Amino acid sequence: MTMITTEIRHFEDTAVAVISIDNPPVNSLGSQLRVQLGEALTSTIADPLVQAIVLTGTGRFFSGGADIREFNTPKTGVRPVLREIISIIENAAKPVVAAINGIALGGGLELTLGCHGRVVSKEAKLGLPEVKLGVLPGAGGTQRLPRLVGVSAALDIIVGGEPLTADQAQACGLVDQVATGNLQDDACAYAVSIVQGTRARSRIDPAPLDEPVDEAIFDNARQKAQRKYRGCTAPLACIECVAKCLSADLSSGLAYEAEQFARLVNGEQSKALRHIFFAERKAVKRVAMGGPSLTIRKVGVVGAGTMGGGIAMSLANAGIPVMLLEQSDAAIKKGWETIQHNFAGNVKRGRFTESQVQQRLQLIGRTTRYEDLSDSDLIIEAAFEDMAVKKEIFTRLDSVCQSDAILASNTSRLDIDEIAAVTSRRDKILGMHFFSPANVMRLLEVVKGAHTSNQVIDAVFELAGKIDKTPVLVGVCDGFVGNRMISHYTREAYFLLEEGASPAQIDGALRSFGMAMGPLQMQDMAGLDISWAARKRQAGTRSPDLRYSCVADRICEMGRFGQKTGSGFYRYEPGSRKPLPDPEIDLLIALCAQEAGIIRRDISDQEIIARTIYALVNEGAKIVQDQIAQRPSDIDVVYVAGYGFPIFRGGPMFYADTIGLPTVLETIKEFHERFGDYWSPAPLLTQLAQNGGKFSDL
Ligand code: NAD
Repeated sequence: MTMITTEIRHFEDTAVAVISIDNPPVNSLGSQLRVQLGEALTSTIADPLVQAIVLTGTGRFFSGGADIREFNTPKTGVRPVLREIISIIENAAKPVVAAINGIALGGGLELTLGCHGRVVSKEAKLGLPEVKLGVLPGAGGTQRLPRLVGVSAALDIIVGGEPLTADQAQACGLVDQVATGNLQDDACAYAVSIVQGTRARSRIDPAPLDEPVDEAIFDNARQKAQRKYRGCTAPLACIECVAKCLSADLSSGLAYEAEQFARLVNGEQSKALRHIFFAERKAVKRVAMGGPSLTIRKVGVVGAGTMGGGIAMSLANAGIPVMLLEQSDAAIKKGWETIQHNFAGNVKRGRFTESQVQQRLQLIGRTTRYEDLSDSDLIIEAAFEDMAVKKEIFTRLDSVCQSDAILASNTSRLDIDEIAAVTSRRDKILGMHFFSPANVMRLLEVVKGAHTSNQVIDAVFELAGKIDKTPVLVGVCDGFVGNRMISHYTREAYFLLEEGASPAQIDGALRSFGMAMGPLQMQDMAGLDISWAARKRQAGTRSPDLRYSCVADRICEMGRFGQKTGSGFYRYEPGSRKPLPDPEIDLLIALCAQEAGIIRRDISDQEIIARTIYALVNEGAKIVQDQIAQRPSDIDVVYVAGYGFPIFRGGPMFYADTIGLPTVLETIKEFHERFGDYWSPAPLLTQLAQNGGKFSDL
């Protein structure tokens, strides 16, 4: 397949070879393309009739960078490797100018750093996002970029991983010119002026970078990286590589960078991050549609509490008009004030300007009359978690909304099909399970009921894209994917408390595993009354033979609902969210253990991690088997995007794969023997472990 084309253009009596990268969809620099690009460059450089070269891309991309699927395969070694191509360009006797027509990321941008001039189109985006895949720019980016733009800007670009616009790139010196007319013409003119000697070649100085740099710049970058990429090693390696520019010449810096890249790309973290990268893309793929698609222009939201307010903000952020409905004027006023307060916080943190906030607020209408929802294409219910309340609301919505309007519930656990049954439009009823705070968290579980049509799912996926959410399709069951699994995780945390661990030990162990917060801290934050209500609801169907911990119920009975009441598993100083151990809770736990006849013992952090995380894995396997999730990787997306699972471990199912399913199964069998039926191994796990399979093979 031809991926590289060369055209000779005569420009002001100068012959310019325009080499175009044409490898849709993103012009990635895979092994086949590199061979063709290497040949095209070598032959045009050798061609005595060619005086200058312009390198460009076709379509929306200059180049999206390396082909990530080739990582950890022999294909990455196929020569010329990208570093060699860049060196051919850098050392060419005739000028090579990059005409950056669109998105230039990773290896795509590194390719241009070897060029002798960079001209970009106004729409171009330039960035080095490798850090997000657990690696670093390994084709010279960490050595050439600081020499071009300085250490501070290079750290921002390489460690931040966010792309720059054409203007930003020009302002920091990353590119030489933003095209005003036709990009290719401008780039040719640029190359010709180098040939004619009216403009100098841009050159990377191979000497160690001579820039006075305060060590604090690196300390700052390390601290920022720890906050942004909790537990990830790649950002630190990026910083070390940039620092190397100050002491090493280009060739030894490049050798150091190559060593660091090899270490990272072969490590578990990078494999996990790449797994999540592909898992997200798979999860958000829309259902193939036959008929006409539905478009959601206006959205109604019922309930202006914690979730309804956040959902309205998310929609308004995307420019979508919202009508917010509450049960009383007082409730709507309270909800409105919270929304204003939260937007004001966004202004304070510099996320939005005051006028942007005003535009958003104007998009949010308020009402207490159902009739005002009659022109909404979608209504999202976020009222109390009570089936009777939901049924009443859906009955009313069904009678006032247009016949093709979609009705969604934000319920955390309730049966969508039971809600749908009170309406005359069961094909248009679904769950849209947002996470708190809904204007911040990216995850959206899209719950497909027994009768929900694909057209409706597709429309909601489209909306999710517009409001910057990551939708994952899930089926109906108590808690869907995320909350169904979390029940098993918190159950083990409660049992471990009774058996001898303290709240601080459990939370500390799971934080050291990489969780954003421990399970008991998380309960305190979410509100203990919410899971208490769910346990009361499930009490009738719970087998009396199964062990039950009453610790959390007893804490609720004390009126301790977590952060919002100033105490829960921990106590909180007024105005603080810092969990402080509470001897009263230690006593309560000891008492519950005594009443249950449990002899408390020392528990290792390792046991805490295995019991809580393997509880997630075992339930996850059952969820895949029950077809509540479409694939194991969707569960990983749910846990990384919605539950603070460490991204560098790739989600619970991928983590189990990395441990090895036979080992995971053996431990689960041992827990089954010691702790009883909760631990019956998922048949899917048993089957995969016995056949040498992996979740990621499914
Ligand atoms: P909340 O108590 O903060 O808000 C509920 C709001 O709904 C209140 O303002 C109440 O006045 C209003 N409301 C109640 N009945 C109503 C009716 N008949 N008509 C109009 N408004 C009515 O609760 P929340 O935390 O926002 O939860 C709302 C829903 O979202 C629940 O189903 C909950 O399970 C789900 N959810 C909550 C979270 C979370 O972390 N809080 C996360 C995901 C999903």
